[in-house]
Amino acid sequence: MFLKGLNISELDRFLTQDILRQESSKSNGKKISYRTKQILKWVYSKFQDDPNLFSDISKEIRKQIAQKINFRSLELLEYKISQVSDSIKFAFRTMDKEIVESVLMKHPGRYTVCVSTQVGCNVGCIFCASGMFGLKRNLGSHEIVEQLFLIQKFVFERENKRISNVVFMGMGEPLVNYNNVLKAIEIFTSDWGFNISKRNVTLSTSGILPRMYDLIKDNVRVKLALSLHSPFQKEREKLIPIAKRYHIDEVLKALENYYLNTKRRVTIEYILLRKINDSVSHAKELVRILKRYNMRVLINLIPYNNIGNVYFEGILLEEPEISRIREFYSILKEHFEVSIRWSLGRDIDGACGQLRRKIISN
Ligand code: SAH
Ligand code: SF4
Repeated sequence: MFLKGLNISELDRFLTQDILRQESSKSNGKKISYRTKQILKWVYSKFQDDPNLFSDISKEIRKQIAQKINFRSLELLEYKISQVSDSIKFAFRTMDKEIVESVLMKHPGRYTVCVSTQVGCNVGCIFCASGMFGLKRNLGSHEIVEQLFLIQKFVFERENKRISNVVFMGMGEPLVNYNNVLKAIEIFTSDWGFNISKRNVTLSTSGILPRMYDLIKDNVRVKLALSLHSPFQKEREKLIPIAKRYHIDEVLKALENYYLNTKRRVTIEYILLRKINDSVSHAKELVRILKRYNMRVLINLIPYNNIGNVYFEGILLEEPEISRIREFYSILKEHFEVSIRWSLGRDIDGACGQLRRKIISN
């Protein structure tokens, strides 16, 4: 039983039925017990997850809790502080010795953590380091939550600061690990958990169509970002192999539905690859197709971050020249909100999956 994979009612049930049997008569099964609240407060408000230090709980109960509940499942392996931007990349080791990475990005008034949801990824995007080894396994909800916990603890102890934003943009495709991601979102956004506003949580997907509709049905209401990368179905299929299964018109329709249901601005992510998808006709086609949908959209341009010598149909993957990026931006800007995400911390291998790859190959 992993503490950080339990929501308040699951923890309460476990505590009252399995551990505090002698106390459970006091709880009528509906009200959350005082013990449960105490423990959640230690973990998610004081960022203390060593049960021996829960000073307002008796020694005897602490001992039982520590025996039956696993409080930690990740170990901090290393962190690298970027010299060029205010970001820190963390590498964690799971109990089965897999590597999971997360990034902390500091902006004035806003601390954002980028979390991973899988070890590897089986979507297979040609430009992405996470997909290079395929999918090893899904992360459990406790492992997703623990990335945020350990980084929050790190900044709380050093700077007394709170994490305000979470983005699901690390290693893995969150919608392939749907249930665990949903549980993690619950823990991130509940008042008994990290209490982060759903508006400050962004989930990025390569377009797993049925799960995009599940997000609506399950009333998840976080911000949604779709990795589009090309306005042309045939080309998109080559960049993102899973796009063969889910047609571009269908995923954009799902995004529109998400917008109409939540009224939250949606994001289109577009990686810019030199001489592949950065032409004027790409930009114009992108404008044309997006205009068909009734949604408020932000287009986030992401200049490609180099992951080594990778070729696509004979062309080396490279970031476009600045002038190209600016031109692409201006065409879109006439019609939509647009931002350019200059990679934070290239010196710390800031792009998705890169740190793990380095550690593995060393
Ligand atoms: N699997 C999800 C979320 C994780 S990837 C998705 O694909 O949306 C998060 C973002 O990082 C995606 O938009 C992806 O295209 C981008 N990305 C991956 N590799 C990159 C690279 N080498 N350079 C720049 N962005 C990259
Ligand atoms: Fe997976 Fe996203 Fe990387 Fe594509 S970009 S391989 S979906 S993690």
